[in-house]
Amino acid sequence: MRIARFAAGRDPQYGVVELAEDGGSHPDTVSVLTGDPIAMSVQLTGERKELSSVRLLAPVIPRSKIVAVGRNYAAHAAEMGDEVPKTPLTFFKPNTSVIGPGEPIMYPGASREVSFEGELALVIGRICKEVPVSRVPEVIFGYTVANDVTARDLQRSDGQWARAKGYDTFCPLGPWITTHQQIEEAAALAIRTTLDGELRQDGNTKDMILTIPELVAYISSYTTLLPGDVILTGTPSGVGPMLPGQEVSVEIEGIGTLTNPVAGARPDETSKQAEQ
Ligand code: MG
Repeated sequence: MRIARFAAGRDPQYGVVELAEDGGSHPDTVSVLTGDPIAMSVQLTGERKELSSVRLLAPVIPRSKIVAVGRNYAAHAAEMGDEVPKTPLTFFKPNTSVIGPGEPIMYPGASREVSFEGELALVIGRICKEVPVSRVPEVIFGYTVANDVTARDLQRSDGQWARAKGYDTFCPLGPWITTHQQIEEAAALAIRTTLDGELRQDGNTKDMILTIPELVAYISSYTTLLPGDVILTGTPSGVGPMLPGQEVSVEIEGIGTLTNPVAGARPDETSKQAEQ
């Protein structure tokens, strides 16, 4: 199943997405649910809308946190000139960094180098702590696509990453959450990032160093995970800078494509303004 969250009047609604490619004769549709399936038990309302008629939102806004892992693909660690860490390198992104498909990533004036990082995201479905590897499937609600947007220059200069990874708009999520994959399937998906249509990252989740169960077990060893919390699983190689006016897309096989424009002042204009 694909669970989408979309704009509808004052409050967002949730629905089950059915794509024409699934074999139906109808256009892509979304069947409306009675509420948020991560937070409560829900039913279909019987209302169905054409997918093209609704504006998709981030499929989840975590109530508490996004936990991310750095250097979880060896080729990406190497391109950054880093070793693969002996202890997993995890960090938090604030829930206020989340935006949905199509919403602009805002280039902060303090940075001159904002980079994309296409990543598989896990959505937690149950409150849990100290989850053993064997029981991780029970706590995953589903999977979505993320862009762990990073101000690379600030990441280098700040020493820790709260600002470089935490700006508003620095965590695009979407286009929906898939709930049908088993962990073994999610652990072998092609992941590609394009910038203005040009292929930049071409990886596969099978190249993760910490597997999905190991990652959830490790993170839940030190923090309680809540329903709706999101875990970013690291980025493959090929990361690079993007500029206002460009458009970035992250596509994960079997899940979908997350596309966002980059907006704000170009860094050369920012520095000119600063000189005036
Ligand atoms: Mg990352």
